[in-house]
Amino acid sequence: LQTDDAQYLCSLIRTIPGFPAEGINFRDFMPVFADPRGHDLLLQALIADLPVDTNDFEFIAGLEARGFLLGTALADRLNKGFIAVRKAGKLPPPVVSQSYDLEYGSATMEIEEGLVPAGSRILVIDDLIATGGTAWAAMKLFESVGCSVAGFSFVMELQGLHGVSQLDNKPTSSLMVMP
Ligand code: AMP
Repeated sequence: LQTDDAQYLCSLIRTIPGFPAEGINFRDFMPVFADPRGHDLLLQALIADLPVDTNDFEFIAGLEARGFLLGTALADRLNKGFIAVRKAGKLPPPVVSQSYDLEYGSATMEIEEGLVPAGSRILVIDDLIATGGTAWAAMKLFESVGCSVAGFSFVMELQGLHGVSQLDNKPTSSLMVMP
């Protein structure tokens, strides 16, 4: 993006200290979606910065919930299929599940079985990578159904949490990297 466009896009991302818990700086991307120019610039930037060639994947997978907003819009622009990776219990059976560790306890992500043919290559997208647990679980889900993750796209990366190092050296792009 041109500098003024990049500045405009960044100006639409809000930071809320202490939400949803003490010590977390929550990054709010909803003002970007609320703004037609911002939304268009974000999609342009994601496409310009894809971690792999568009011929290297057939599906885009979005991680609940903001990854759905990014993923469906991007899939439409790139003429790819879209797959929702959801928190456990939301998708109807049959599903495939993958749990991952959180600081306290664990969480589980799911996909609907049978939506992606074995051998498909997937671009995984989300708004933000923190510890990388959610993105890692998505990668394992697709591998467990015989597919492979071609790469990962994030709008923002919290570099200090080293989430990208969990992703098996897959090609990854992050539009904004925070220390
Ligand atoms: P993680 O699994 O730790 O990489 O967390 C990534 C998921 O949690 C993504 O779906 C993010 O949307 C969300 N998330 C984690 N940290 C933040 C944050 N500081 N601001 C907004 N969303 C966050």
